Amino acid sequence: MSFAALWESLLPLGRDAGTGGYRRFSWTAADAECRRWFLDNAAKRQLRAGADRNGNLWAWWDIPGTGPGGAVVTGSHLDSVPDGGAFDGPLGVVTGFAAIDLLRERGAAPVRPLAVAAFCEEEGGRFGVACLGSRLLAGAIESAAARALTDRDGTTLAAAMAAAGHDPAALGPDPGLLASAAVYVELHIEQGRALADLGAVIGVAERIWPHGRWRLTFTGRPDHAGTTRLGDRRDPLLAAAATILAAREAAARHGALATVGKLTVDPGAVNAISSSVTAWLDARAPDDARLRAVVDDVLAQARAAAVAQDVTLEHAEESVTQAVDFDAALRDRMVATLAGAGIRAPVLPTGAGHDAGVLAAQVPAGMLFVRNPTGVSHSPAEYAAPEDCLTGVTALAAVLEDLACR
Ligand SMILES: [Zn+2]
Repeated sequence: MSFAALWESLLPLGRDAGTGGYRRFSWTAADAECRRWFLDNAAKRQLRAGADRNGNLWAWWDIPGTGPGGAVVTGSHLDSVPDGGAFDGPLGVVTGFAAIDLLRERGAAPVRPLAVAAFCEEEGGRFGVACLGSRLLAGAIESAAARALTDRDGTTLAAAMAAAGHDPAALGPDPGLLASAAVYVELHIEQGRALADLGAVIGVAERIWPHGRWRLTFTGRPDHAGTTRLGDRRDPLLAAAATILAAREAAARHGALATVGKLTVDPGAVNAISSSVTAWLDARAPDDARLRAVVDDVLAQARAAAVAQDVTLEHAEESVTQAVDFDAALRDRMVATLAGAGIRAPVLPTGAGHDAGVLAAQVPAGMLFVRNPTGVSHSPAEYAAPEDCLTGVTALAAVLEDLACR
């Protein structure tokens, strides 16, 4: 089966007709369709397939005469952010199957098992914790805490899994499964324009920037928009607005990224001064020191803005993820393998988290990126050209062949 046919077969699943974006949230009907697609494609290829205890899907190309262990694993995720694009996640899964097809066509003879995996809830689009499936697998989140996570409607992960026919009591670390993987290589669409600017189709990941989320709540005094004199106001939204602008400036000053993408304004009336405003800051930087510097700057400006508007500020660090350096030997080996296949692959850092970043703590892990001409991601406009996707298949097949056949 060609890459194009495989890609087309997945494309309609979970797509919203109105926005053209994907709503593939875990343990929903759309997710069930994607999971069936995965298992059908594994079956078509005579790959032994099923879900692990955390619901992650695996399709194994077993090699007779080899025991468990030493497997070369590739894959990504099938879930999406709300109204996400077609490529973020699925490109790595489809390319995994297509690379296996290519290796078989070529008569490649692996001496180690190969597997394609699709991890659950990578985007945290339903239950709010990114890379949930790989975190559970690696023991990076408590299973009881995971079971109690809720979606917008208050449905727990445990209830959603049970409704989808998967036993939530089984959630938890799976050291045996992890130990069977010798290496994990994830192919992903680039979520930026570095490759386009470098004139390259494929990149190899160097590291994932450290990143985190901070919550800032400004509390003032609710009042009438039509009768309260400007000088008498204690408007928390003004302090939040100053902080949002300060975040942008701090990021630029430190060569980092900072974003306020979520804001709650209470009570949220057109004709009232707000009582309180909560802003969430997402910050990412090339290293821990610069991340800390950006956040310290933003918090200092937020405090000053709170004083200026006579409102109070409370802040909390919701999460911080340390930098992940991908396995250097694997990275260099992939660059050399790709060069041997005629593919120039620059080494790039990324500001986005991935399952490969979670698994890197336990298994030598690496990533390949496929060029994204506009850099747009987490949007229906996300795009990679068909010929670039095919180069992705060629690149992944070359890497898997090098790792599994020698
Ligand atoms: Zn992704």
